[in-house]
Amino acid sequence: MTHRVAVLDKELCQPKKCGLECIKYCPVNKSGADCIILNEQIKKAQIDEDICNGCGICVKVCPFDAITIVNLATELGAEKIHQYGLNSFRLYRLPTPKKGEVVGLLGRNGIGKSTVINILSGNIKPNLGKYDNPPDWDEILKFYSGTELKSHFEQIKDNQIKTSIKPQQVSQVAQAFDGTGKELLEKFDERGVSNQLIKELGLENSVDRGLKELSGGELQRLAVAVAVSKDADFYFFDEPSSYNDVFQRIKVARTIQNLSKIGKTVMVVEHDLTFLDFLSDYIEVLYGEAIAYGIVSSVMSTKVGINVFLDGYLPSENVRFRDKKFTFDASASTDEFQEENEVITYPALEKKYPSFSVTIEAGRVRKGEVVGIMGANALGKTTMMKMIAGVEKPDSGNIDKKVKIAYKPQYLQNEAEVEVVSVLDEANENPIEGSQEEEQIVQPLKIKKLYNKSIKNLSGGELQKVAIVSCLLQKVDLYALDEPSAFLDVEDRIAVAKFLQKFVRSYGKSAIVIDHDLQLMDLISDTMIMFEGISGIEGHATSPLSKSDAMNRFLRSLDITFRRDEKSLRPRINKLDSRLDKQQKETGNFYYK
Ligand code: ADP
Ligand code: SF4
Repeated sequence: MTHRVAVLDKELCQPKKCGLECIKYCPVNKSGADCIILNEQIKKAQIDEDICNGCGICVKVCPFDAITIVNLATELGAEKIHQYGLNSFRLYRLPTPKKGEVVGLLGRNGIGKSTVINILSGNIKPNLGKYDNPPDWDEILKFYSGTELKSHFEQIKDNQIKTSIKPQQVSQVAQAFDGTGKELLEKFDERGVSNQLIKELGLENSVDRGLKELSGGELQRLAVAVAVSKDADFYFFDEPSSYNDVFQRIKVARTIQNLSKIGKTVMVVEHDLTFLDFLSDYIEVLYGEAIAYGIVSSVMSTKVGINVFLDGYLPSENVRFRDKKFTFDASASTDEFQEENEVITYPALEKKYPSFSVTIEAGRVRKGEVVGIMGANALGKTTMMKMIAGVEKPDSGNIDKKVKIAYKPQYLQNEAEVEVVSVLDEANENPIEGSQEEEQIVQPLKIKKLYNKSIKNLSGGELQKVAIVSCLLQKVDLYALDEPSAFLDVEDRIAVAKFLQKFVRSYGKSAIVIDHDLQLMDLISDTMIMFEGISGIEGHATSPLSKSDAMNRFLRSLDITFRRDEKSLRPRINKLDSRLDKQQKETGNFYYK
């Protein structure tokens, strides 16, 4: 038996601009019942889930893709924890926090991770699906009787639980506080650990400045420090890696792990799989359909949880939640290219600013090659990309101007009141709808739904995907992408990586990519440029190296070693001082191919 889930994307539903096709063609409506109606108050479609037969005709006829209809097993209905409203998102099941452990939540954006955090931290009182007549605490506690979560909710009810949350958007922290980092930390530091955290997270040179003057990475680490310094029982970290480089991500991971070591309960939402793997003791996967519904899996070991996620199949529940599995072909990259197929060669380059300078060894990019650029923040990676893209002029060294380059900058502008489709038309130099490029580039990255949205209203992840696609649509020889993973969820990161690899190989294109997601870089790069030096003072870039040489050098500087998961072939960080870690360090083999 199944029950119906009908969800309307209220932004996409625009009854003024369509012919009310859903209402016209619904077979239940045709038989005389009111299955889909126009809600005159909110001027949006409204679907009666009790009489909908789940045929999906409305989904197909809606010109704006605003409707999602799903048939779910009836039994699941009994495990509904929360629903925001009529035809709105609903969450089934909850993860169980574990004392003294870090539980990682893994799933795509819009699948309910923040909803979970809000419920477990007491910010949202779960309504068990009864959004029009919310239950009281007694009913909620009865629902949880006999489960581990009962005492958790009892404590929430009695206000006995102390939670600390690192919110997803760190810019909100800067907006909400008018003062220096140090003042903010001191305000919240109930555990007397602020000095230690400043050191641990490398914030010594940042904390005396006002929050509005801090970079994204500094603000992120400050927000982590604030959350850690509170004296709570439960700690939640929503995407703590954003804006940080790999060195900083490792520091953040160690700081969070120290909380679990002193017996605190920790939950983390994260899209950088290498980092999540390194950080978590357990994983719970959230699956379902973004915007419509999310289901929380049972708890798994980190290794199994991440593999299950990549497989798209949950054996314990016999559920397939993605039609294909993500695989990592470790041999897909190559550094064997025809030397005559060089797309761009550049001589040694130099650029000096009053307090920062960067030197870059000569290099080249060949047809069909992805060159990955790795290194800490503030070493000049973006400056190099800008010089190659012709946006910035080097002080010494000249770049071949004949090469046509498309450049996706790190920081994206979203103030424009312009529809996504016209941005894509312009990049493509022709209407995108119905074109070959639509099939080749737009479809694989699934952004067709956004055509009629204004750039201004896109989320960070949506804007990133539109920026990547409009870069790749341009007919040029070299694509330069600065931090394509930022704001993308785990699923989109893999989709972008796989697509980029295929796009470059099959169409004989070339790309240079800067990113801090180790798994993404490992997946897409054929060769790599390493940036080294002193952040904010001087940077130095190598020539493109073979991936194994570059990764080995990079991992050595991080003092971590990689192995490959035998099942998925994804790279995993060895536990510090484990047998493999010691063995690989002894033989100088930090990167296991
Ligand atoms: P995640 O954190 O995994 O990205 P969220 O928990 O933020 O997912 O959101 C899940 C879904 O719930 C989203 O599709 C979002 O649109 C919807 N949602 C979140 N908050 C509300 C709200 N207050 N009212 C209605 N819908 C909401
Ligand atoms: Fe009507 Fe079919 Fe849409 Fe249900 S799925 S609302 S029955 S058209």
